[in-house]
Amino acid sequence: MSQDYSYSPYLSIIMPAYNDAEALQAFLPQVFEFAAALATPKADDITDNNNHKRLSCEIIIVDDGSSDHLLEVVTTLMPSRPNNTELILLRLSRNFGKEPALSAGLAQADGELVAMIDADGQHPLPVLAQMLSMIEQSNIDMVAGIQANRPHESKLAKTLKRSFYLFIQDRQRYEIRPNAGDFRVMNRKVVMALRSLPERQRFMKGLYAWVGFNTVYLPFTADNRDTGESKFNFGSLFELALVGITSFSQKPLRLISRMGFIVSALAFLYGLYIVIETLLF
Ligand code: UDP
Ligand code: MG
Repeated sequence: MSQDYSYSPYLSIIMPAYNDAEALQAFLPQVFEFAAALATPKADDITDNNNHKRLSCEIIIVDDGSSDHLLEVVTTLMPSRPNNTELILLRLSRNFGKEPALSAGLAQADGELVAMIDADGQHPLPVLAQMLSMIEQSNIDMVAGIQANRPHESKLAKTLKRSFYLFIQDRQRYEIRPNAGDFRVMNRKVVMALRSLPERQRFMKGLYAWVGFNTVYLPFTADNRDTGESKFNFGSLFELALVGITSFSQKPLRLISRMGFIVSALAFLYGLYIVIETLLF
């Protein structure tokens, strides 16, 4: 499945996929086109000495335990990948969830720059191109997409999300930017820092912020999902929020400690009252 490169690829594109074969069938050829364009010099790049580096690409599809025909789709499309592009399919043994799937992709990615993009085609490739030129042109380590508007999200969901981000915030140490998701491009430094974290329960949106580094945020509007449906429902988002809260906030722990302290203080005072009342009266 792989071609031989004497140097590490310029860009790794990680795509987690769970039962999104149909969407990937339409989207992967577009990603191929995007990757092929990396090897084509840009008009304004002619004098750029670094231009030769913008060549090779690896696309890492992480099959997160899909039960659909993803393997068939990837195998069929494999021969049409561009010359500068290696296509890797990582197949997880079961459905672990998007966070572990992204981590598995990160562990495999060899690129100087690493991009993460959904396999369902909702993350627009022109925005990825914009992220790439931003990280190439300035001294930043990561460009993260912020999903600007979600027209289909209910008021309740919006309020819950806002409260969640307020609750886990710890601005003195780092900022977990609301709606900054997994659609992002990062350099090797960030990749190595993320890889070194031993967390088993991984809340990626928190980890990106926790490792620090110079991050720039880019608002974007997600494309509609043409096929299939979102794998995240209220229950799984709630589970993810719990992972976020328990791994990124000491507030619940402190709250419970305070309550424990108050209850024991009250019990002590009441005990004292009973002793005094018995002795005196
Ligand atoms: N995904 C995954 N494992 C899961 C759920 C989702 O790898 O358990 C992938 C999915 O195939 C898609 C991306 O993560 O490429 C985002 O998922 P989805 O479209 O369901 O989420 P949404 O776009 O609604 O946030
Ligand atoms: Mg999606």
